[in-house]
Amino acid sequence: MSQINTQDRIVIIGAGHNGLVAAYYLAKAGLAPLVLERREVVGGASVTEEFHPGFRCSTLAHTAGPLLPHVARDMKLERHGLSIINPEVRVFAPSPDGRSLSIYRDAARTARELKNLSAHDAEKYPRFCESFERIGRVLAPLMTATPPSIDRPTVGDLWNLGKVGKSFRGLGKRDAYRLLRWGPMAVADLAAEWFETELLRAVVAARGIFGAFAGPWSAGTTLGLLAQAALTGHPIAPASFVKGGMGALTQALAEAAMGAGAEVRTGVGVERVLVTDGKASGVVLEGGEEIAAHAVVSNADPRRTFLRLLDPTDLDPDFLLKIRNYRSTGTAAKVNLALDALPSFAALKNAGADGAQALAGRIHIGPDIDYLERAFDAAKYGDYSHAPYMDITIPTLNDPSLAPEGKHVMSLYVQFAPYKLKEGDWTSRREEFGDAVVKTLSTYAPNVAELIIQRQTITPLDLERDYGLTGGHPLHGEMSLDQFFTFRPLIGWAQYRTPIKGLYLCGAGTHPGGGVTGAPGANASREIVKDLKASRRP
Ligand SMILES: Cc1cc2nc3c(=O)[nH]c(=O)nc-3n(C[C@H](O)[C@H](O)[C@H](O)COP(=O)(O)OP(=O)(O)OC[C@H]3O[C@@H](n4cnc5c(N)ncnc54)[C@H](O)[C@@H]3O)c2cc1C
Repeated sequence: MSQINTQDRIVIIGAGHNGLVAAYYLAKAGLAPLVLERREVVGGASVTEEFHPGFRCSTLAHTAGPLLPHVARDMKLERHGLSIINPEVRVFAPSPDGRSLSIYRDAARTARELKNLSAHDAEKYPRFCESFERIGRVLAPLMTATPPSIDRPTVGDLWNLGKVGKSFRGLGKRDAYRLLRWGPMAVADLAAEWFETELLRAVVAARGIFGAFAGPWSAGTTLGLLAQAALTGHPIAPASFVKGGMGALTQALAEAAMGAGAEVRTGVGVERVLVTDGKASGVVLEGGEEIAAHAVVSNADPRRTFLRLLDPTDLDPDFLLKIRNYRSTGTAAKVNLALDALPSFAALKNAGADGAQALAGRIHIGPDIDYLERAFDAAKYGDYSHAPYMDITIPTLNDPSLAPEGKHVMSLYVQFAPYKLKEGDWTSRREEFGDAVVKTLSTYAPNVAELIIQRQTITPLDLERDYGLTGGHPLHGEMSLDQFFTFRPLIGWAQYRTPIKGLYLCGAGTHPGGGVTGAPGANASREIVKDLKASRRP
């Protein structure tokens, strides 16, 4: 046992970005957070690793959520070396017929380019963005708030809801109706209501299905889009990159947390949460060491926390049943490529410097709504998609330090690849899957295969085994209507507390969910500090 006063020690299981954000705020509140990470590096799904000599890449997540601006400010991340790169182009979407669409940070520039595809869409696009900006202003405060208690709403809950109600009324009738109507809609319907160009519809719809076991025609997928857009006020996901890859972000978070007084230990897996008289009293490490603590905070996903780290006899059978029904079966995989040179995209008329600029944001593969839906169909029936939806980045275009001079790294987020395969398993089918991904990419960038020096294929099973994501779910569980806001992870348990006194959750399985935002970690720490202050009041 270490010497720290256990009255102040808070053990945090996992050094994902949310665990690190929580550690910072807890340390700032005068507590003694001890972060225990099972991997040798901090960061969880936000890491930069060398996957071939001289080639480094954001192994999993490749764009920053974006991280909440006030978290970045509080933690003074720039002083800890964080540098964010926002290229002018957000998305480049090629089509197999040689046409393409580029979406820029500047809506007017996007509209000008859209005129080549559709005058109708060029006129609608800025209005679509403006509506999302207004709606985002109403939803953003909800993302950084603790969801209200359904059974026993406190005065604070009612006050916060009142504030949201007031800004909702300020939206005006048209946007207010839109917000109410859009949430439950299929994102394909939303995209079709606004736009006629399939490529643009597909780019909009992709954000609604990112990380989800859902296709664009699935009900409620607009909610995914609204939730993600709430933090950015924009319908299209940002191209927000970190110099040095996502690992540089989590390194900066770890340094800031340690600077505030937190201790971070890596290569230390927690085997079990100790519960004494119904209260979390510490943890047992994989080697058997026990660490006592005043409270335990889990950055692991809800299923891992409750079904693996706790003795089932410490939980109520009804709660156990509900957590077993919490849906956390992923459909995402990752392929990272070390490339000898920049591949040529057939849809890019201008190669060279202009071409490189067009590829500096995210590259969307999924030319129409039916393509995205068919990609999901495969997963529905237990197979990986042979023509998957992909969100690709070439980080070396913005940060050449990630590869030897003149070489490139390509990072491919691939969907759909279901955790459970109907035939065979991921170990035996890994390379065949990697081949299918490269084949799909070759439709758009015909010379890519001959440029590959090394390929790293990360399956949903690897996400579970190596990165601790139960069911391989990139967002610690589906972000569907039934697992959202006051329902995340379960109704009655959306305030970061758990049925075990002194045990809290702070990861993406809590509100507002997945993505590298830091919001769950910041929200959870606020509730923990509140409880600890209340318990120490004379
Ligand atoms: C392939 C992929 C691509 C993605 N792409 C993007 C993207 O481009 N942009 C974006 O914003 N989001 C992306 N995401 C989602 C995003 O990465 C996650 O939602 C986010 O990183 C979750 O952060 P977290 O801190 O809550 O949890 P995690 O990052 O999962 O961290 C949890 C930590 O807990 C540790 N842990 C678990 N169990 C134990 C234990 N028993 N003992 C000790 N430690 C333990 C794990 O090792 C891990 O380090 C992606 C996810 C994946 C998988």
